[in-house]
Amino acid sequence: MRTTHANLVDPKLVTLRNPDIKNDPVSMGPTYNNLCEHCREREATVHVAVVSWPSGEQLQHLCELCYPEIEAARIQSYATQPALPLPVDIEDITASEYLDACARAAANGPDKLVLRHICDELKRFPATRARLAIELLTMAKHSLDQNDDAFSLIGIGAQFGDLIDAVRLAEFIGLLESIIHQSVNLMAQYSLPPSQHPFGMGLSMAILALKRADPSRLAAIRERLASQPEREGLPNYRAAIEYFEKKAPQ
Ligand SMILES: [Zn+2]
Repeated sequence: MRTTHANLVDPKLVTLRNPDIKNDPVSMGPTYNNLCEHCREREATVHVAVVSWPSGEQLQHLCELCYPEIEAARIQSYATQPALPLPVDIEDITASEYLDACARAAANGPDKLVLRHICDELKRFPATRARLAIELLTMAKHSLDQNDDAFSLIGIGAQFGDLIDAVRLAEFIGLLESIIHQSVNLMAQYSLPPSQHPFGMGLSMAILALKRADPSRLAAIRERLASQPEREGLPNYRAAIEYFEKKAPQ
Protein backbone atom coordinates (compact mmCIF):
# COMPACT_ATOMS: atom_id res chain seq x y z
CA MET A 1 0.00 0.00 0.00
CA ARG A 2 1.38 3.38 -0.96
CA THR A 3 0.18 6.65 0.47
CA THR A 4 0.00 9.27 -2.22
CA HIS A 5 -1.18 12.16 -0.08
CA ALA A 6 -1.40 12.73 3.60
CA ASN A 7 -4.13 15.31 3.62
CA LEU A 8 -3.31 18.98 4.02
CA VAL A 9 -5.98 19.71 6.58
CA ASP A 10 -6.77 16.73 8.76
CA PRO A 11 -4.85 13.54 9.56
CA LYS A 12 -8.12 11.60 9.42
CA LEU A 13 -8.51 12.37 5.71
CA VAL A 14 -5.99 10.21 3.89
CA THR A 15 -5.85 9.22 0.23
CA LEU A 16 -4.34 5.81 -0.45
CA ARG A 17 -3.39 4.90 -3.98
CA ASN A 18 -3.45 1.26 -5.03
CA PRO A 19 -4.58 -0.14 -1.70
CA ASP A 20 -3.86 -3.83 -1.05
CA ILE A 21 -7.54 -4.62 -1.41
CA LYS A 22 -7.38 -4.19 -5.22
CA ASN A 23 -7.04 -7.95 -5.68
CA ASP A 24 -10.12 -8.67 -3.62
CA PRO A 25 -13.23 -8.31 -5.87
CA VAL A 26 -15.61 -7.87 -2.92
CA SER A 27 -13.60 -4.99 -1.49
CA MET A 28 -13.46 -3.30 -4.89
CA GLY A 29 -17.12 -2.34 -4.53
CA PRO A 30 -20.24 -3.19 -6.54
CA THR A 31 -19.61 -0.73 -9.41
CA TYR A 32 -16.13 -1.96 -10.32
CA ASN A 33 -15.89 -3.26 -13.93
CA ASN A 34 -12.27 -2.55 -14.90
CA LEU A 35 -13.20 0.79 -16.50
CA CYS A 36 -12.24 4.23 -15.20
CA GLU A 37 -15.18 5.72 -13.29
CA HIS A 38 -14.48 9.16 -14.71
CA CYS A 39 -13.98 8.74 -18.48
CA ARG A 40 -15.51 5.24 -18.74
CA GLU A 41 -13.16 4.56 -21.66
CA ARG A 42 -9.75 3.55 -20.36
CA GLU A 43 -8.84 0.73 -18.02
CA ALA A 44 -8.89 1.61 -14.32
CA THR A 45 -5.37 1.03 -13.06
CA VAL A 46 -5.41 3.42 -10.10
CA HIS A 47 -7.52 2.37 -7.11
CA VAL A 48 -7.91 5.13 -4.58
CA ALA A 49 -9.30 4.78 -1.07
CA VAL A 50 -10.31 8.07 0.49
CA VAL A 51 -10.66 7.74 4.24
CA SER A 52 -12.55 10.53 5.91
CA TRP A 53 -14.38 11.14 9.16
CA PRO A 54 -17.32 10.67 9.71
CA SER A 55 -18.28 9.36 6.26
CA GLY A 56 -15.88 6.41 6.28
CA GLU A 57 -14.01 4.98 3.30
CA GLN A 58 -14.78 5.56 -0.37
CA LEU A 59 -13.16 3.66 -3.22
CA GLN A 60 -12.54 5.15 -6.65
CA HIS A 61 -11.22 3.33 -9.72
CA LEU A 62 -9.50 5.61 -12.22
CA CYS A 63 -7.20 5.53 -15.20
CA GLU A 64 -3.71 7.03 -15.17
CA LEU A 65 -4.89 10.03 -17.20
CA CYS A 66 -7.93 10.94 -15.07
CA TYR A 67 -6.34 10.32 -11.68
CA PRO A 68 -4.22 13.54 -11.46
CA GLU A 69 -7.21 15.74 -12.31
CA ILE A 70 -9.53 14.08 -9.75
CA GLU A 71 -6.87 14.14 -7.05
CA ALA A 72 -6.12 17.83 -7.66
CA ALA A 73 -9.84 18.67 -7.31
CA ARG A 74 -10.04 16.71 -4.05
CA ILE A 75 -7.04 18.46 -2.52
CA GLN A 76 -8.51 21.80 -3.55
CA SER A 77 -11.78 20.91 -1.78
CA TYR A 78 -9.94 20.00 1.46
CA ALA A 79 -8.22 23.34 1.54
CA THR A 80 -11.14 25.63 0.79
CA GLN A 81 -14.40 24.08 1.95
CA PRO A 82 -15.56 24.15 5.55
CA ALA A 83 -17.31 20.93 6.55
CA LEU A 84 -20.37 22.93 7.61
CA PRO A 85 -21.66 26.27 6.32
CA LEU A 86 -20.65 29.21 8.48
CA PRO A 87 -23.38 29.73 11.09
CA VAL A 88 -25.39 32.94 11.25
CA ASP A 89 -27.05 34.53 14.30
CA ILE A 90 -24.00 34.10 16.52
CA GLU A 91 -25.61 36.62 18.87
CA ASP A 92 -28.11 33.88 19.87
CA ILE A 93 -25.65 30.96 20.14
CA THR A 94 -26.13 28.77 23.23
CA ALA A 95 -23.36 27.31 25.39
CA SER A 96 -24.18 23.82 24.06
CA GLU A 97 -23.93 24.99 20.45
CA TYR A 98 -20.62 26.68 21.22
CA LEU A 99 -19.24 23.51 22.89
CA ASP A 100 -20.45 21.44 19.89
CA ALA A 101 -18.51 23.72 17.56
CA CYS A 102 -15.38 23.33 19.77
CA ALA A 103 -15.71 19.52 19.71
CA ARG A 104 -16.20 19.44 15.93
CA ALA A 105 -13.19 21.73 15.41
CA ALA A 106 -11.06 19.42 17.54
CA ALA A 107 -12.18 16.35 15.58
CA ASN A 108 -12.23 17.70 12.04
CA GLY A 109 -9.85 20.20 10.46
CA PRO A 110 -12.30 22.01 8.14
CA ASP A 111 -14.58 22.77 11.11
CA LYS A 112 -11.82 24.92 12.61
CA LEU A 113 -12.96 27.62 10.17
CA VAL A 114 -16.46 27.50 11.67
CA LEU A 115 -15.13 27.89 15.22
CA ARG A 116 -12.86 30.76 14.18
CA HIS A 117 -15.84 32.49 12.56
CA ILE A 118 -17.91 32.07 15.76
CA CYS A 119 -15.08 33.45 17.94
CA ASP A 120 -14.54 36.42 15.63
CA GLU A 121 -18.26 37.20 15.60
CA LEU A 122 -18.55 36.91 19.41
CA LYS A 123 -16.12 39.82 19.79
CA ARG A 124 -18.93 42.03 18.45
CA PHE A 125 -21.49 40.84 21.04
CA PRO A 126 -20.45 41.52 24.66
CA ALA A 127 -23.93 40.64 25.98
CA THR A 128 -23.71 37.22 24.29
CA ARG A 129 -20.25 36.64 25.79
CA ALA A 130 -21.62 37.52 29.24
CA ARG A 131 -24.58 35.16 28.81
CA LEU A 132 -22.24 32.35 27.64
CA ALA A 133 -20.01 32.95 30.69
CA ILE A 134 -23.00 32.45 33.02
CA GLU A 135 -24.28 29.39 31.08
CA LEU A 136 -20.86 27.71 31.03
CA LEU A 137 -20.10 28.37 34.72
CA THR A 138 -23.57 27.08 35.62
CA MET A 139 -22.78 23.89 33.66
CA ALA A 140 -19.43 23.69 35.48
CA LYS A 141 -21.15 24.02 38.86
CA HIS A 142 -23.62 21.23 38.00
CA SER A 143 -20.72 19.08 36.87
CA LEU A 144 -18.88 19.62 40.19
CA ASP A 145 -22.15 18.83 42.03
CA GLN A 146 -21.89 15.39 40.35
CA ASN A 147 -18.22 15.11 41.50
CA ASP A 148 -17.01 15.52 37.90
CA ASP A 149 -14.06 17.72 37.07
CA ALA A 150 -15.11 20.75 35.00
CA PHE A 151 -11.89 22.59 34.25
CA SER A 152 -12.58 23.18 30.55
CA LEU A 153 -16.05 24.64 31.25
CA ILE A 154 -14.55 26.85 33.99
CA GLY A 155 -11.75 27.95 31.65
CA ILE A 156 -14.03 28.94 28.76
CA GLY A 157 -16.64 30.47 31.09
CA ALA A 158 -14.01 32.58 32.88
CA GLN A 159 -12.62 33.71 29.53
CA PHE A 160 -16.04 34.84 28.27
CA GLY A 161 -16.54 36.71 31.56
CA ASP A 162 -13.34 38.73 31.35
CA LEU A 163 -15.16 41.96 30.47
CA ILE A 164 -18.54 41.12 31.96
CA ASP A 165 -21.06 43.96 32.29
CA ALA A 166 -22.39 45.27 35.61
CA VAL A 167 -25.77 43.59 35.03
CA ARG A 168 -24.29 40.09 35.12
CA LEU A 169 -21.33 40.73 37.46
CA ALA A 170 -22.99 39.61 40.72
CA GLU A 171 -24.19 36.35 39.13
CA PHE A 172 -20.73 35.74 37.65
CA ILE A 173 -19.00 36.30 41.01
CA GLY A 174 -21.51 34.09 42.84
CA LEU A 175 -20.86 31.22 40.45
CA LEU A 176 -17.07 31.57 40.80
CA GLU A 177 -17.41 31.53 44.62
CA SER A 178 -19.52 28.34 44.47
CA ILE A 179 -17.04 26.72 42.09
CA ILE A 180 -14.09 27.60 44.36
CA HIS A 181 -15.80 26.22 47.48
CA GLN A 182 -16.96 23.09 45.70
CA SER A 183 -13.50 22.48 44.17
CA VAL A 184 -11.76 22.81 47.55
CA ASN A 185 -14.30 20.40 49.10
CA LEU A 186 -13.82 17.85 46.34
CA MET A 187 -10.02 18.09 46.62
CA ALA A 188 -10.31 17.57 50.38
CA GLN A 189 -12.41 14.42 49.83
CA TYR A 190 -10.19 13.04 47.06
CA SER A 191 -7.92 10.16 48.01
CA LEU A 192 -4.86 11.62 46.27
CA PRO A 193 -3.08 14.81 47.41
CA PRO A 194 -4.18 18.02 45.62
CA SER A 195 -2.67 18.61 42.19
CA GLN A 196 -3.63 20.28 38.91
CA HIS A 197 -5.87 17.27 38.12
CA PRO A 198 -8.56 16.61 39.05
CA PHE A 199 -10.21 19.81 40.33
CA GLY A 200 -6.95 21.76 40.81
CA MET A 201 -6.84 23.24 37.31
CA GLY A 202 -10.46 24.43 37.49
CA LEU A 203 -9.87 25.85 40.97
CA SER A 204 -6.83 27.82 39.73
CA MET A 205 -8.82 29.28 36.82
CA ALA A 206 -11.78 30.22 39.03
CA ILE A 207 -9.42 31.92 41.53
CA LEU A 208 -7.79 33.98 38.75
CA ALA A 209 -11.19 35.02 37.37
CA LEU A 210 -12.50 36.04 40.80
CA LYS A 211 -9.30 37.95 41.51
CA ARG A 212 -9.88 39.99 38.32
CA ALA A 213 -13.62 40.46 38.93
CA ASP A 214 -13.49 41.33 42.66
CA PRO A 215 -10.32 40.73 44.72
CA SER A 216 -12.14 41.53 47.99
CA ARG A 217 -14.47 38.55 47.51
CA LEU A 218 -11.46 36.27 47.01
CA ALA A 219 -9.90 37.64 50.20
CA ALA A 220 -13.15 36.89 52.05
CA ILE A 221 -13.02 33.24 50.90
CA ARG A 222 -9.39 33.02 52.04
CA GLU A 223 -10.30 34.28 55.51
CA ARG A 224 -13.29 31.97 55.79
CA LEU A 225 -11.27 28.89 54.79
CA ALA A 226 -8.36 29.80 57.12
CA SER A 227 -10.66 30.19 60.14
CA GLN A 228 -12.65 27.02 59.44
CA PRO A 229 -11.93 24.20 61.88
CA GLU A 230 -10.31 21.08 60.41
CA ARG A 231 -12.99 18.73 59.13
CA GLU A 232 -12.47 15.19 60.28
CA GLY A 233 -13.01 12.38 57.83
CA LEU A 234 -11.74 14.34 54.80
CA PRO A 235 -8.37 12.79 53.89
CA ASN A 236 -6.88 15.86 52.25
CA TYR A 237 -8.67 18.73 53.99
CA ARG A 238 -5.54 20.58 55.22
CA ALA A 239 -3.66 19.94 51.95
CA ALA A 240 -6.61 21.31 49.93
CA ILE A 241 -6.65 24.54 52.00
CA GLU A 242 -2.90 24.90 51.51
CA TYR A 243 -3.33 24.36 47.77
CA PHE A 244 -5.93 27.14 47.68
CA GLU A 245 -3.66 29.50 49.66
CA LYS A 246 -0.78 28.82 47.28
CA LYS A 247 -2.97 29.63 44.26
CA ALA A 248 -4.53 32.69 45.91
CA PRO A 249 -1.71 34.33 47.90
CA GLN A 250 -2.50 37.44 49.94
ZN1 LIG B 1 -10.23 7.89 -17.02
